[in-house]
Amino acid sequence: MKKRIFALVFAITLMALSVFPARALENPAILSDLPVEEQLEYLQGQGIEVPPENVRFVTVLISRFETDPDYPIGVSNPGTYELAARVGDAVNRYYQRGDRPRPEGLAARYTLQDSTVVGSWSEDFLYYNCYAYALGRTDGHYWPGKFSTVPNYSDFNLQDSIYNLACDVKADLKSASLSNRCVSMTTVRPASLSSGQSCICIRRGPKDFHFMKFDSSSWYHKPSVTNPLKYKYAPSVSKNWTNERVVEGVPLAADTYYDSAIYYFVYSKNHGSTTYTWTGNHYHSGSRHYYEYGYKCKNCGEFTSKTWKNEACSGPPCSTPWGLTPSSENL
Ligand SMILES: [Zn+2]
Ligand SMILES: [Zn+2]
Repeated sequence: MKKRIFALVFAITLMALSVFPARALENPAILSDLPVEEQLEYLQGQGIEVPPENVRFVTVLISRFETDPDYPIGVSNPGTYELAARVGDAVNRYYQRGDRPRPEGLAARYTLQDSTVVGSWSEDFLYYNCYAYALGRTDGHYWPGKFSTVPNYSDFNLQDSIYNLACDVKADLKSASLSNRCVSMTTVRPASLSSGQSCICIRRGPKDFHFMKFDSSSWYHKPSVTNPLKYKYAPSVSKNWTNERVVEGVPLAADTYYDSAIYYFVYSKNHGSTTYTWTGNHYHSGSRHYYEYGYKCKNCGEFTSKTWKNEACSGPPCSTPWGLTPSSENL
């Protein structure tokens, strides 16, 4: 008897599992109230594998989509954005939601903490992210390296160090597409810019990257597909950035943050003024010592031109002819 009851319960459980969405319709357990493993199981059943580093983010998203079927996603990274969109669809399927209006009363419940909104809502904001915005472009969702080292998004690794991501951004700025000859990269926020120079910065958090740009004495940014914002502060590692945002005039609380080092890029189409100095390269050959001098850009540290000089040398051991400063007349 016990065995038969067990078998019956087992069969009913199986049936219930196989018609999970239908059961949800009749008596939906609140998805976000279920243990995390069961939430992930449901997503898995919907064909969504959640990487371990995104579990917390996804569970927060689930409860946000429960409150608002059209909850606007605010992550910059194209891959994370796609994951979030699929989670949103899955949550809406769970509750059997068709087209329905956005719940009223959601508006104005949140007040932006760290930024103020710039201008009014435009559908155009949907088509570009923070990196494009920082570069003054409006035509796509960019990632570090898109124009240089990582042309295919499938090769982009968000878990790369902030230093490596910053190097990818530097390579983008110098690429043929963005064509800046002079690019300096530093973790020190620049005190001022010369005319012709622009400045942007990148930071990353556990699951997303974000950019800001400097423009006429203030810092601006655009979380993902949302309204551009003016940051109330100067960027600083002592204060986390968040993705609080404004969509269609509605301010929304953050669901992710950025806490890494901040890399700043000061860039311009052409190099600044130069100094004539030793490049550090030298070698001895025969009875002469050869050393390289050049013109070094004061802004980015790159040599804009170089030339080899030589002096008679009795070494090795060598004298230190590279300590001399030859005249620049032959360059
Ligand atoms: Zn330069
Ligand atoms: Zn020598």
